[in-house]
Amino acid sequence: MPLGAHMSIAGGVANAILRGKSAGCETIQIFTKNSNRWRAKPLAPREIELFQAARRETGIDPILAHTSYLINLASPDEDLWEKSLNAFQVELERCVSLRIPYLIFHPGAHSSAGEEVGLNRVTQALNEVFERVEDTSVTVLIETTAGQGTGLGYSFEHIARLIEENFHPERLGVCFDTCHAFAAGYDLRTPDAFERTLEEFDKTIGFDRLKAVHLNDSKGGLGSRLDRHEHIGMGRIGLEGFRFLVNHPQLRLLPMVLETPKGPDMKEDVENLAVLRSLIEE
Ligand SMILES: [Zn+2]
Ligand SMILES: [Zn+2]
Repeated sequence: MPLGAHMSIAGGVANAILRGKSAGCETIQIFTKNSNRWRAKPLAPREIELFQAARRETGIDPILAHTSYLINLASPDEDLWEKSLNAFQVELERCVSLRIPYLIFHPGAHSSAGEEVGLNRVTQALNEVFERVEDTSVTVLIETTAGQGTGLGYSFEHIARLIEENFHPERLGVCFDTCHAFAAGYDLRTPDAFERTLEEFDKTIGFDRLKAVHLNDSKGGLGSRLDRHEHIGMGRIGLEGFRFLVNHPQLRLLPMVLETPKGPDMKEDVENLAVLRSLIEE
């Protein structure tokens, strides 16, 4: 089972892979550019070479990418929506260049426009991006969200609709974030509860769409709509939920990455990975 964590790209994208290796990751997630800025320098051929070499040397695979938090494909504001669309296109192209198979994004916030309008904006944006970027080697993963504020994607129905209404549903998949799903009201605390949540996922979206998992415990309670990540076993989901997850015959085959709080020495990642590995029943 590929287990890992989100890694910083400070000093270049290849460094994220080396950092991941040193923390004991088998898979990692990265931002392919500074996540707090709109603009990015194009990737230099040398950077891409170093990235591939680091991947070969460490065996870290697969590598996931997450889009910048500035992007809001659901925005009713024409300027922000255009800007988001262009930035999303750049991120997708960077993944193609780096041969990263999955790009994860949040559907976005509709602000005051309402969920209907917001979901339609996202579909319009994704259709436009897929038209601009013809290379289909990167699958775009819609992340389950906590539903803070006017955020979309907190219900499996939202995600199913985004896939069904796209002109290219085969280019879309799902990333299941445990903290977000729990905060959105999907119980994961016991094997029975987790099983019911997965059945609902399968019925609404389809299990085959699930391509990656974000491993986060939750500071907020069930249905709190709070997007606050906690260390594994220290939050409101608890160890039993994660034990079920890492031993699930289908889920355990998927890349799973931590997005829990940490300092520069990454000791928290090392600890969380040790906790998760201790839960695996051989
Ligand atoms: Zn995310
Ligand atoms: Zn996440």
